[in-house]
Amino acid sequence: MNVPPARKFVRPPLRLATLAACAGLACAQALATGGPVVEGTAYRGGVVSVANPHGAEAGARILEQGGNAIDAAVAIAYALNVVEPQSAGVGGGGFMMFHLAQWGLTFTLDTREKAPAGAARDMFVGVPSASLQGVAVGVPGMVRGTAMAVQLLGRKSLAQVMAPAIELADQGFAATPRFVSSPGCTNPASRALNSPESAAYFCPGGAAIAAGTVVTNKPLAETFRLIARHGPDCFYKHLPDKGCDIALGIVEGQKFARSQAGSKGGSMTLADLEAYQPAFRLPIEGSYRGYKIKAMGPPSSGALTVLQILKMLERFPLGDTHAGFGYGSVKTLNVMADAMRLAFADRADWMADADFVPVPAKGLLDPTYLAVRGGAIVPGVMLAPNPLPGDPRPYQTAGLEPRQAALRGAPTTGPENGTTHFSVVDRWGNFVSYTNTIESGYGIGVFAGYKRADGTFHNHGFLLNNELTDFNTAPSTNRVTAEVGYNDVQPGKRPRSSMSPTMLFTPDGKPVLAYGSPGGATIINSVVNITINLVDHGMQLQPAIDAARISVASSAPSITLETARLPAGTGPATEAALRALGYTVGTGDVGSVQIVAVDPRDGKQYGAADNRREGTVIGLPRH
Ligand code: GLU
Repeated sequence: MNVPPARKFVRPPLRLATLAACAGLACAQALATGGPVVEGTAYRGGVVSVANPHGAEAGARILEQGGNAIDAAVAIAYALNVVEPQSAGVGGGGFMMFHLAQWGLTFTLDTREKAPAGAARDMFVGVPSASLQGVAVGVPGMVRGTAMAVQLLGRKSLAQVMAPAIELADQGFAATPRFVSSPGCTNPASRALNSPESAAYFCPGGAAIAAGTVVTNKPLAETFRLIARHGPDCFYKHLPDKGCDIALGIVEGQKFARSQAGSKGGSMTLADLEAYQPAFRLPIEGSYRGYKIKAMGPPSSGALTVLQILKMLERFPLGDTHAGFGYGSVKTLNVMADAMRLAFADRADWMADADFVPVPAKGLLDPTYLAVRGGAIVPGVMLAPNPLPGDPRPYQTAGLEPRQAALRGAPTTGPENGTTHFSVVDRWGNFVSYTNTIESGYGIGVFAGYKRADGTFHNHGFLLNNELTDFNTAPSTNRVTAEVGYNDVQPGKRPRSSMSPTMLFTPDGKPVLAYGSPGGATIINSVVNITINLVDHGMQLQPAIDAARISVASSAPSITLETARLPAGTGPATEAALRALGYTVGTGDVGSVQIVAVDPRDGKQYGAADNRREGTVIGLPRH
């Protein structure tokens, strides 16, 4: 067989030079009259920025065929299910953010998974490796959401935008280095090895696939054909007359329980699937040094936490090297870390699905609340003890007395690998910023499918999510109100997310950037780092992505720092200085950011993607 070589990853050296000396008021004023200065390879026919080259190609193809950003984004989402199946797909859900140029409207579509009707607060208690069991599977949202987006906002049909993905699954694609290395075929604890079918697909014969090998996923091609032919009902309903048996495969698949004492399958029924509906929601808006920022509100903690961190940092001249700040300085990292810790303490207790619990969003972003809370950040000192959640409710509702949080450690959440972010702008200036996930890499490591009467397995070719472990995995209490924990499991509820598809606008509301990242709770910090790199440090797009990120994803003083990406030779001293302040410092990659940008003065379009994964930008027309 003639094996085509893996595509070369295209990362054109795009440059978005923000106003280099842009800080504070001067910056806001300059932007109000002009916007950022943009340089580099410019496009006018649309740009896609995706964490995988085949996914990028699918989106570019749809743009070239006259599709808009929404069509391209949906094409990318389905293509990624084939070529980056460990991250996201029809077995999961996500958040799409749209900016429609014609109306100047920005809104989001929440396709986050929901807990089934049979879910309960204590359903994970005593379950070993709960994130690898059927009990963790939420009702998937991607198919209804993407169908709705294309129908209401696209120029193409669902079948047209799914065509590139069907081709990839049916005819195959050259496996990328990440596709072949991610399963960790020699690691018995690998999530990809959790079920025989998944193990056989990702590690055939127990060995890793060679990069460049053509890989197909025929069962997934068949699943996609059914959806393309009959629409989303063919996914959400068992309709044997039409050959629609995917719902059966989901319900049977999520019954998966490991062969360990205490293992537990899920309670999802066909009725849960049929009842699933996505939700259009307005983004949460804030500002940072004059720029408008819109990001994903509840059930995501993304916008609230990102904006809390940025607002608490606004009083520091982060771009000013003469004042000891500037990119990578210990002073900058010190205040960023403590702002993150304060915001994550609030996140732990106050942020969850606002369809079910009274998230005090207004209070959490109230300037006085944040000024008081952020007052605890002192450069040169590590905030101690670990911050507790505040009480934002009096800043939301006049006349309420604040309560003190009871002393108890905040739950911590770490990075994950099972998510992907991509950004698109089209020739008309419509933007999409889309983060999509099945939660952990490979979800529960089980394909949707069921046993036929003859005992053979009918595989639907997509992995089931473990999104429900984004809930509190044991019954908890809100440390301030003493009520039931806001992010405890409830039937029909969506687990709290960190996904933060984000857009940045000029002060007068012109869209400039769409961006976001995977990385579990660290997503929030990736978005913060990028925003600061562009706005405070005056970096251009690609350097802003390439630069070292800092992340603290709980109230504890444990920093993850991308030391190796700091300016040459500065890493060890920076780490030592942070340790001397009292932090623990670990290293490792943080996130995978994909950006598209438009210069609001002339409409020229740019993109930049992350080499921490296989980030690929395609601009149109192709040069
Ligand atoms: N499930 C996570 C969330 O919604 C995302 C996981 C990841 O980024 O890998 O916050």
